[in-house]
Formats: sequence, structure tokens, C-alpha cells
Amino acid sequence: MEILHVSAECYPVAKAGGLGDVVGALPKYQNKAGHIAKVVMPMYRTKFLYNNNWSVDYKGSAYLGNYHFEFTIIKETTNKLGFDLYLVDINGLLDREKIYGYDDDTDRFVAFQIAVVSWLSSWQHQPDIVHCHDHHAGLIPFMLKHCLAFKHLQHIVTIFTIHNAQYQGWMGWDKSVLLPEWDSWKSGQLDWNNTINPLASAVKCAWKVTTVSQSYMNELKHNSNGLEALFEYEKGKCIGILNGIDTEVWDTATDAMIQHHYKPATVTAGKQKNKNILCEQFGLNKEVPLIVFIGRLVGEKAADILPDSITVSLNNLKHQVSFLLLGSGEPHVEWQLGDMNGKYPGYYHIEIGYNETLSHQMYAGADFLLMPSRVEPCGLNQMYAMRYGTVPMVRSTGGLQDTVMDMGETDGFGIRFNNASVSDIHYSVSRALSVYKDDKHMQKMRQHMMQIDHSWEKTVNDYTTLYESVKRQ
Ligand code: ADP
Repeated sequence: MEILHVSAECYPVAKAGGLGDVVGALPKYQNKAGHIAKVVMPMYRTKFLYNNNWSVDYKGSAYLGNYHFEFTIIKETTNKLGFDLYLVDINGLLDREKIYGYDDDTDRFVAFQIAVVSWLSSWQHQPDIVHCHDHHAGLIPFMLKHCLAFKHLQHIVTIFTIHNAQYQGWMGWDKSVLLPEWDSWKSGQLDWNNTINPLASAVKCAWKVTTVSQSYMNELKHNSNGLEALFEYEKGKCIGILNGIDTEVWDTATDAMIQHHYKPATVTAGKQKNKNILCEQFGLNKEVPLIVFIGRLVGEKAADILPDSITVSLNNLKHQVSFLLLGSGEPHVEWQLGDMNGKYPGYYHIEIGYNETLSHQMYAGADFLLMPSRVEPCGLNQMYAMRYGTVPMVRSTGGLQDTVMDMGETDGFGIRFNNASVSDIHYSVSRALSVYKDDKHMQKMRQHMMQIDHSWEKTVNDYTTLYESVKRQ
């Protein structure tokens, strides 16, 4: 099958979170399974753009409301990522340094989607599947079905994957002029609560909808930032497919970003060496368990309760545990966590910012990874942690619940808790501390986790089955 993935992110071209990881890996493994999978995404001004070679695949023009814009589709020439990668260059709109965060993001991503569909309509043939990811590609199922200029594309199967339903791409109806003309009877397919809602529109218009874990799929019917009724209504076309992880990128035996390589048999010594380097770098005590947090400092990740939780644990378990954090996000959380730097010398440090290399070193050097997330559609960090022999401490929600088994259960290997609260986190830190003292138990859990299969092969099969089920309809 020929599958075209449409996404705002794709690792290593541009990544802000899990979406990038998934779109950077799934197509590669689909190709290995015999499909022809391609990715199209915006052309941002990233390192990857300047360090690779490109050829022009297509030049076109389109309207964004009254604004006539020209776009170019460029293609990476060496198949470096294991799939054909296309970037959409729209001068002045997409070619910026950051992926998101501009006042005109609505215009940017609407223009991106119009360019993708216009390009698609120039193809000599049609792909079997257009697979759209998150709200930045959420208007494409509507455009293919209902926009007059693209009527000839209406039989292309669209699949929509929700990596995060908190962000929906809302825009007022005044922005409707940006869209190519559509069958006005179909306006309801764009609307949710009197706004244009690209995520809701995709749920209505795509042939099938997936989320990145089964538990998250179930949760969306009760908690999806206003779309609960829609998910209940559309449940017949929605399924959960758990993400895999790229085991070629995330491999402790070969990872070029970590200083000491190790395997399950050598995990204890290998980890300690990586931990020593981290601790020296950030002035932390090497002898106590190192608990890390890596991620966006936002409410979904419960980052707002980290300052109090960590303070309580550091005060109650004086000189027995240390914390190392990496992340960026809401300014007041950054400020609070940043302000704690230097207050617990040897036992606490935060690096504010995004640092891919450091994140790998932290997965390799840490003893535990804390994820108290309020919402976690799949969560990749806990899977990377497990693959690196780091014990996950997670709240029982979404994909965390589907991938981590508490160490109290037979063959369990992690720590689970129910509430995103200071007391639950502190209790989990105490549990971490006591298991850390039991060398045998730690070694057993580490080795077990490192050998769990999180590879993409199963996920690819699940997507293939889904694609085939739609094509048979
Ligand atoms: P989300 O997509 O909600 O942010 P996921 O768990 O699905 O969360 O994916 C997060 C990904 O982003 C992981 O690869 C994680 O290592 C990475 N990541 C998050 N924040 C940072 C950071 N500050 N520096 C480096 N990597 C980060």
C-alpha cells in the first residue's frame, strides 16, 4: 500500500514531542514491512534542512482566502530516514525556526494543508491512504471530502491519528474564508461549539480515527477538552493502537549520544558509569538514587506540582535521593523549578530547555524516571526509560497504564500511583528509595524491562489491518 503521512513534526527534521518521534519511525517500519510510506511536513528552518540535499519535486500556487501564495515541495534525495521525505516551503509562512508558537499559526497550518492537498491533486495516481496526524493536518479529511476543487480526490481513504486531543486548533468562523470553497451543506463537518475545530472535523470526516493507546481512547469519551460527546458518538470508527519506539535510535548498545554503552547483562555497571558522568556534570551525589523528569513543563504533565513534590521529598528524605530535570514550558513553572537550583546542592538540578543529547544521557544514567502526567495519550518517555533499564514511576493513566506494571504485581517492573498529587509522588519516591536498596530486585527489574518488546513491528501490523479494513468497505 502507498501511505502518505501528513504531520507538523517528524524526527529528526523537527520535533517538539512524541508526535515527531512517531512520524519519524512509523513510516520507516512500514517500508520495512513492504509498504510505500512517505512523509510530507512543513519546511522549517532547522539544522536538518541545511545539512541535507534536496531536489524540487513540485511547484504550485494556491489561495489562502484572498492571499495568493506560491509553494514548493522539496524532496530529500538520499532516503536518509528510510522513507521519502517531502517538505512544503511557503515563503514567509512556514520557513521559521520554531515549529509552533507564532501568532499566525492558524494561517500557517491552513496554508500547509491547502498546499499538501493541491500537490496531491497534481499526482498522476492516488495514494491508498492519506494518514493525518493531530490537528495541524486535521482539515485534510474535510478538504478531500467536501472542497469543490478536490472532488476528484474524495475516494482517497483518510486516517486520522490523535497524539494529543488537548490541542484542537480552534479558529473562529471568520477564518473560514481561508479554506478552499466547500459544499456549504457540509459546514457542520467543520464545526464544534460554533468554532471551526480541526481536530473535531477530522474525527467527523476521516474514515477511521486512532489514538495512541487503548486506555486513552477510552478516556477521551469522558475527558477530551470538550469533545467527549463526539468521541462517544463516533466510537464505532475509533480504535487505540499503542505506539512503538524506534529501537534502532534507542539502543543502549549503540546510542551515539551516551558515553558508555551497555546491554541487559551489563546494565548495573553501565548505568552507574553513565550516572557518574551526569552527576559530575550537574554536581549531584552519585551514591543516592537519581530520579529524573524529562518533558514539557505543562499542566498535562503535572509539572506544576513538581516544585512542591520535590521539595517535600528532598526535605523528608534528606540526602537520600536526588532529582535531575530537563524541560521547558509554562514560564511560572520554569521559574519555580529554576529558582530551586542551588538550594539543594548535590541533590537537585534542572536544565531548562530542549536538549535531545542530554535526554538520552538521562535515560541512560538515571535510576528512575518520574511521569506524574494528568493526561498521557501514549507516552514515549516511559518506554525509552524501560529500554534503558530505568524504572518508570508513573501515574496510572492513558498509555502509562497500558505499558507499566507496578512492581508489586508478579513480574512487575515499575511504580504506579493514582493521583497527580504531592502525597502520591512522595509516597512513590519512598518506594523508589526502598527498592533501590535491594540490588537484586533492581537488577532483575532493569534486565526485565530492557528486554520488553516495544518495537514498531506489532504497531505496523495493527495499522495495516486497519488500512485494509477500510479499503474493503
Ligand atoms: P509529548 O509528546 O506529550 O510531549 P511524549 O512522551 O509522547 O510526550 O514524547 C516526549 C518526547 O519528547 C520524548 O522523546 C522525550 O524524550 C522528548 N522530550 C520532551 N522534552 C524534552 C526536552 N526538554 N529535551 C529533550 N527531549 C525532550
